[in-house]
Amino acid sequence: MKDTAPTLSSVKPAGRKFTGTDRRAPLRGGLQGCGEYGAGQTAGRFYPIACVALEVTQRCNLDCTLCYLSDRAEMTYDPPLSVLFARLATIHSHYGPGVSVQLTGGDPTLRKVEDLEALCREIRRLGMRSCLMTNGIRASRAFLTRLAAAGLDDVAFHVDMTQERKGFNSETELNVVRRAYIRHTRGLGLRVLFNTTVFGGNIAELSALARFMRDRPEVAFVSFQMQADTGRGVLRGRPDAITQDSVMRAVEVGYETPLHFDTAAVGHAKCNRYASVVTAGGRAVSVLSAKRLTQKVIAALSRADQSTDGHIDTRDSVRRMARRNPFLALQAGLHLLKCVLRLGRGLLRGPVRRQSVFIHNFMAADALEDDRCASCVFMVATANGPLSMCVHNAQRDMHLVAPDRVDGPSGPSWWNAAVPHLSAGPDLPDLSDPGLAPLKRLKGQMRATRRNQKDVS
Ligand code: SF4
Repeated sequence: MKDTAPTLSSVKPAGRKFTGTDRRAPLRGGLQGCGEYGAGQTAGRFYPIACVALEVTQRCNLDCTLCYLSDRAEMTYDPPLSVLFARLATIHSHYGPGVSVQLTGGDPTLRKVEDLEALCREIRRLGMRSCLMTNGIRASRAFLTRLAAAGLDDVAFHVDMTQERKGFNSETELNVVRRAYIRHTRGLGLRVLFNTTVFGGNIAELSALARFMRDRPEVAFVSFQMQADTGRGVLRGRPDAITQDSVMRAVEVGYETPLHFDTAAVGHAKCNRYASVVTAGGRAVSVLSAKRLTQKVIAALSRADQSTDGHIDTRDSVRRMARRNPFLALQAGLHLLKCVLRLGRGLLRGPVRRQSVFIHNFMAADALEDDRCASCVFMVATANGPLSMCVHNAQRDMHLVAPDRVDGPSGPSWWNAAVPHLSAGPDLPDLSDPGLAPLKRLKGQMRATRRNQKDVS
């Protein structure tokens, strides 16, 4: 069956649906269950999930040494738009409007730009945020201009030495690439994020890289992701030198200031560490330095929240909180003003910007911790509904062959990653069928064969 461009009215969500009243309750329960719902916790209190990945292709134009994809990834077909629309509808039914949807892969820019435009429009229509997660190679200015016009909110560039880009021998040399990518986004109204995998090959350069990020007022969000033994990448276990503490300290050296990673929490502390700074002209000041004040503000905001379904209108909550707690609002305002004034000479050299710094600690595929999986804030959309990214990474092949159901005007159709188009029945082939590997998917075949040989020996 040939796939045609779907509209939401012709596509119904498959998988689990949210049936409760407060969409934050499941995450809050998970965090409470493992003692992580303290005074600084924002997840489950202000939002039902941090983000959901929508994998629009398993293909990639790089082959990172710490890639989380499966060896069989390059043997698969891209999901038709109707499947992706159905997964978007499922994300929306679970988490409601406001959730950040990461258009990811593989590298999503290998899809036709028209497909990505359609997805951005649909995400905007559903009231969710879209983020393009890309290595940037194909994300030219013209490409990003089209997506911005279609409603793309954020672009996250992944650039680091695990990608083995030709001609670059260090993270410092890769700053040329990072600068060029920032230029591509100028004036498009996109929020710019950067992702870096922290591994044995760049831990010594982490402080210098953090300083580079601090000095880029265009960058709103900086994420450092610690090496994890999962997926097809050739590097495996994490070196002892890479711990949450060592990464936090190296980043603080780069920002030349303490970052107070223990003040506010985004999910489980073993998964995520979060800091927030104001920057200007090559200086940074942490805005989370006042722990008691921050936690009082979190509590007051929580009391001021009147949403019943987990979709918080932040501005509305802040206004209501300020009306109910004028003294606390004044204290918070003065604290922010002090942070800005502490930027000192930096104020003369550049604009004041806020930047978030995030350290993400994915788990190894064979060492998943139940409490972290149960309180995960980073989900992937699968055929059976959202799933923790760590769990998904550990079971990728199983999810690639799970059939997606798409309900259209002429009844249900089915798809899995082993077939190019929707089928009439759910009995789809799986990826181990040798007849399913045309030449263009030879790369995946060879990888899978190599992996099988390794597993046998
Ligand atoms: S993806 Fe893994 S490391 Fe990240 S929040 Fe979820 S369980 Fe934690």
